[in-house]
Amino acid sequence: VEDALRQSQKMEAVGQLTGGLAHDFNNLLAGISGSLEMMQNRMQQGRFQDVERYMAVAQGASKRAAALTHRLLAFSRRQTLDPKPTDVNRLALGMQEMIQRTVGPSIPIEVVGAAGLWPALVDPSQLENALLNLCINARDAMPDGGRITVETANKWLDERAARQRDIPEGQYLSLCVTDTGIGMPPEVIARVFEPFFTTKPLGEGTGLGLSMIYGFAQQSGGQVRIYSEIGQGTTVCIYLPRHYGEIEDDEQSVKLDTLPRS
Ligand code: ADP
Repeated sequence: VEDALRQSQKMEAVGQLTGGLAHDFNNLLAGISGSLEMMQNRMQQGRFQDVERYMAVAQGASKRAAALTHRLLAFSRRQTLDPKPTDVNRLALGMQEMIQRTVGPSIPIEVVGAAGLWPALVDPSQLENALLNLCINARDAMPDGGRITVETANKWLDERAARQRDIPEGQYLSLCVTDTGIGMPPEVIARVFEPFFTTKPLGEGTGLGLSMIYGFAQQSGGQVRIYSEIGQGTTVCIYLPRHYGEIEDDEQSVKLDTLPRS
């Protein structure tokens, strides 16, 4: 539990860092587009000295924005994937208490693990981060309360089902998080995987959660899908390729050791 709490504090720090960067980046963009507008305006008036001044401002802001994105990229590159055969049921159950602490006591969380779930080939710590992120989004979508369900399943995607989900045909397992919240309009669904896209108030959302999950799923050979209905709730599913083979015993016992104890 100690480790889990420290991890959630770390995640919060990451959120603040990236959120701060996003904010600074937005300010720089505003400066650039403002300068461009002024340039256009002064050109029309033939005041070319001013144009040069605004150009210098835009150039300076662009350079600072580039430096910011380099910092962000350097930071994200540190999170390289380390895929292992993983029991996703065990991972989800192991996270339940930590998720409950993070979303608070008023929203019940149910974890429903499918019997005979295939192992996934995935970086377990990245999947934990993704799951926590999805549950925080679910909580944020339920200001008046509700329930969160975390559910796993084996999915054999035939050609048509795979095409619908934009991944190759084959065997996957899914990890889905369902809330009974406000739902997402189509214009939000269309943009949620864009980095920095958020509908949350400044300082609350970073707009990086779903874009990072999307990147992680793609890098793992999987996909993320969203099913949502306004006023009913949202389900976000991560599809991960099946690992063909058993999870070796020593890996199981290592995982057991890392389960939070209460
Ligand atoms: P953030 O949570 O920081 O805003 P995300 O990338 O995780 O960034 O989410 C982007 C946006 O997608 C959110 O601002 C919200 O509008 C929407 N969203 C994500 N998850 C849900 C959900 N479960 N229910 C409703 N809207 C959601």
